[in-house]
Amino acid sequence: MNCAALSCGDTTIVIDCGIGFTDEHGAELVHADFGWLLEQHRNLEAIVITHGHEDHIGALPYFLKQLRVPVFAPPYAAALIEDRLREHRLRNVDLRVSPAGSHEQIGCISMERFAVHHSIADATGLILDTPVGTVVHTGDFKIESDPCEGQRFDRDRLEQVARDGVRLLLSDSTGADVDGRARIERDAETALEDWILRSPNRVVVATFSSNAFRLRAVLRIARECGRKVCLLGMSVQKHTETAQALGLLPPLDDLLIAPGEVDGLPRDQALILAGGTQGEPASALSRLGRDEHAHVHLEAGDTVIFSSRAIPGNELGVFNLVNRFERRGLEVITRARHPEVHASGHGSREEQRAMIKLLRPEAFVPVHGTHHHRSRHLELAHEEGIAQTQLVENGNVLELTRDTLGVVDTVPTGRIYIDGMRALSAEVIAERRAMASGGLLSVVLSLKGGRLRELPHVLSRGVWDGSERVRLERKVAEQVRNRLKGQRFGDAAEAEEAAIEAARKFLVHNHRRRPLITADVHGEP
Ligand SMILES: [Zn+2]
Ligand SMILES: [Zn+2]
Repeated sequence: MNCAALSCGDTTIVIDCGIGFTDEHGAELVHADFGWLLEQHRNLEAIVITHGHEDHIGALPYFLKQLRVPVFAPPYAAALIEDRLREHRLRNVDLRVSPAGSHEQIGCISMERFAVHHSIADATGLILDTPVGTVVHTGDFKIESDPCEGQRFDRDRLEQVARDGVRLLLSDSTGADVDGRARIERDAETALEDWILRSPNRVVVATFSSNAFRLRAVLRIARECGRKVCLLGMSVQKHTETAQALGLLPPLDDLLIAPGEVDGLPRDQALILAGGTQGEPASALSRLGRDEHAHVHLEAGDTVIFSSRAIPGNELGVFNLVNRFERRGLEVITRARHPEVHASGHGSREEQRAMIKLLRPEAFVPVHGTHHHRSRHLELAHEEGIAQTQLVENGNVLELTRDTLGVVDTVPTGRIYIDGMRALSAEVIAERRAMASGGLLSVVLSLKGGRLRELPHVLSRGVWDGSERVRLERKVAEQVRNRLKGQRFGDAAEAEEAAIEAARKFLVHNHRRRPLITADVHGEP
């Protein structure tokens, strides 16, 4: 959920606007609470996107629904954002495509983008010229020693910026626990080629579909070894289209086949490119694992290559999926046993060090990653002799002057949970929590002249077993009737409150149960 605001004089810009995936509270997504930012900075001038990964662009529609500001994004990210805005029916958004090398003047900040290596096309970092000096934000990055076609890292430009002096460096901390240098994309490609050539039957390659370099590699390998490619899943299809439209993939004309054609091909002539590397139950890969796909059925002897990694938190789901394939006699190649089949998009320690050495900033703040990763990255900056450093937490206000750096304030922050493209309110989250832990009990009352007319109707779910439910529901109903009997209520709300209170007391004292209790008056009070 990357999102940072940078203010300078009257100008405020937001850098990235990402989401995280979650299943907390039954939500699907989570993003930062923009409340304080929107209240304090009605004069926000722009949202600047570094690259197209979900943790950098995913919350844009939710932000733009609250405040319309121009969005600057590099080409690949802009194409993904356009799709997302269409899904949310957000029209007339001022989306400006700004590739690496471009300059923008935004209020008193002049911004230049530079290209970095990362696991998505058009990843950029930002050089922000401010009245207190130059601030460099790396975005997500790695430094490939032997980049593949289309991957660019603007080292010369950064050397020049370093010569002019960098006041502050904000740098990606994700790889801070990995020693040495990250595996390069080309090596992952070579390893994939080996495994695909060695596979006697069908091959499924599961990868992050936003990585057009990896898609291009798999498509090339398939063509060279005489396999047709079936793109399985929305995300792989979408990203292939986007990458083609931006010229990142060669013409695929006769290479692609539809899912319905896979079974008709000899088994050694099919390659399936699938999304769902995180074990998401609805994904194409999970359906293949459960053998529930409408058209494609894998068999013993087929190979599944996970050219990916399990994002922390998803390990169990990924393992379950691996086991489904292995149980059915498929060969499964994962990074755990064969680390060569995937290359991370984030630089390891030596690349982080190289970035510090390259820019020689006066001040350093690690970003992107947990507290642990940022602390480890900070150690690195100390080793490199950077005197001014600061760890920041969500909500911290960091002040940079010509000669000082420090946290000067903390502002309200929080998490907004999204379910079905809408934010869950605190009330809904509290109700879901109560239902999840205690079940649900509803009391329906009927009043006449402000008085209870008959025995209330009580319904419960997730509180008692079927065998005792009816009996105990009736007990609650009688309890509520006994408490409300003889009282005259001014309105429905008053009666409902009394009913909830009566049911609550009975359930807590007699049954030690705390379900979510609702009460409704039916008919005229
Ligand atoms: Zn990224
Ligand atoms: Zn990221």
